[in-house]
Amino acid sequence: MLDDMFDYIEHIRERPVWQPIPALVRASFNETLPTSPSSLGQAHRKFMTQVLPYAVGNSHPRFMGWVHGGGTAEGMLAEMLAAGLNANLGGRDQMPLEVEGQIVNWMRELFGFPDSANGLFVTGSSMANLIGVLVARTKALGKGVRKDGLREQADTLTAYAATSAHSCVSKAMDMSGLGTRALRLVAVNDADQMDVQSLSRMIAADRAAGFKPFLVVGTAGTVNTGSVDDLSAIAALAQQEHLWFHVDGALGGLGMMAPDIRPRLRGIELADSIALDFHKWGQVPYDAGFFLVRDGADQLDTFASPAAYLTRYARGLAAGSPWPCDLGPDLSRGFRALKTWFTIVSHGTEKLGSAMSHSCALAQYMKDRIEACPELELMAPVALNIVCFRFRCLDADAVNAEIVADLHESGIAVPSATSVRDHTAIRAAIVNHRTVASDIDALLDAVLTFGRSRVLGSGEAQ
Ligand SMILES: *Cc1c(COP(=O)(O)O)cnc(C)c1O
Repeated sequence: MLDDMFDYIEHIRERPVWQPIPALVRASFNETLPTSPSSLGQAHRKFMTQVLPYAVGNSHPRFMGWVHGGGTAEGMLAEMLAAGLNANLGGRDQMPLEVEGQIVNWMRELFGFPDSANGLFVTGSSMANLIGVLVARTKALGKGVRKDGLREQADTLTAYAATSAHSCVSKAMDMSGLGTRALRLVAVNDADQMDVQSLSRMIAADRAAGFKPFLVVGTAGTVNTGSVDDLSAIAALAQQEHLWFHVDGALGGLGMMAPDIRPRLRGIELADSIALDFHKWGQVPYDAGFFLVRDGADQLDTFASPAAYLTRYARGLAAGSPWPCDLGPDLSRGFRALKTWFTIVSHGTEKLGSAMSHSCALAQYMKDRIEACPELELMAPVALNIVCFRFRCLDADAVNAEIVADLHESGIAVPSATSVRDHTAIRAAIVNHRTVASDIDALLDAVLTFGRSRVLGSGEAQ
């Protein structure tokens, strides 16, 4: 099995990035519940033939869809060790928690947070952003909100994020009971960054109308275009207005490891909390999201819940309070810290950072090629590692959506489709450390080929 996975990674370039799932393959996982065992070999064969060839393909260097990390062999091996150990990281006095604590300390160091800071591995930034909203809510209303619920406060608290913020921020408002209506979406400037003057005006208007602004979410790398909000300006306003300042750093937060990206994130060190994803630019295999908070006491206030069967003692296995289950919604938790630790120690932050810088350089290369080609049009500024563009033609929205599906089915390259200022765009998010310039060429050449043939096929004149 190990050999198979090493071969898979070693020869990933020779595979289609993705291929459509044949009906028979899909049906092979529509069986009834087995009552008797079959062999490990059978299960393995079925994995190799029916699952592995039809995965998303994000380990492939020409996968540039959505925002997916490429993973590493080191991370894969660590996952095997973690599964073998089968540690439950909900709490208790065990060395695996010290490994998680090591990552917490490293993140404190990376983001220049004080000793009071704490953090927690979670599924991904969707969960980390939810935790951010919940901690900010508890900070604004006091611990009593956990017992009493939001009640009439639900109608007065207001939060702010740019229109370019990830949809999970709005979902977090929904899940927290505050409601999506309480999230004010702030306009963006031409660079797709939050317009901080608009933010200031919206806060003032809300206060005048009797609302209680409590939270502003800035984004370090927006998911659609890769823009970075002016985090310093948001931090200053948040401090002046006494708002919790949370940064969604899912995509770009770990850019702190790259000397050329770090200055663009200035202000992130002033955040009250940060969400980030090791499974994107950090190249750690899925899933490895992380929440970092400036003052760990705020996180404890939000989640610690006493229970007799979770009583802490001064010695023995039940020592070592607080436990991770005091810091988030999960009790049982896997050992995500191990694959993250393996990835960081086996590469070091300089190498991880240079892979991030390289993906930004590739995005600039792609932008230059697009701007030099009259048949292509750049759709958004390229701030980090995301390029939005389209093939110029009549009925461009429909045609570009078709081009993206053509690319997927061809297996040549996988971008995703999005909408930029109400127009369909082809979006390439360059995250994988395996991607090189010839992969960008392959994607653009295929876009031109499919675009031209679609235009010719419809008899459309340019
Ligand atoms: C990916 C992403 C998220 C969601 O993170 P998950 O790890 O997928 O839950 C949130 N915000 C931004 C900016 C992202 O890129």
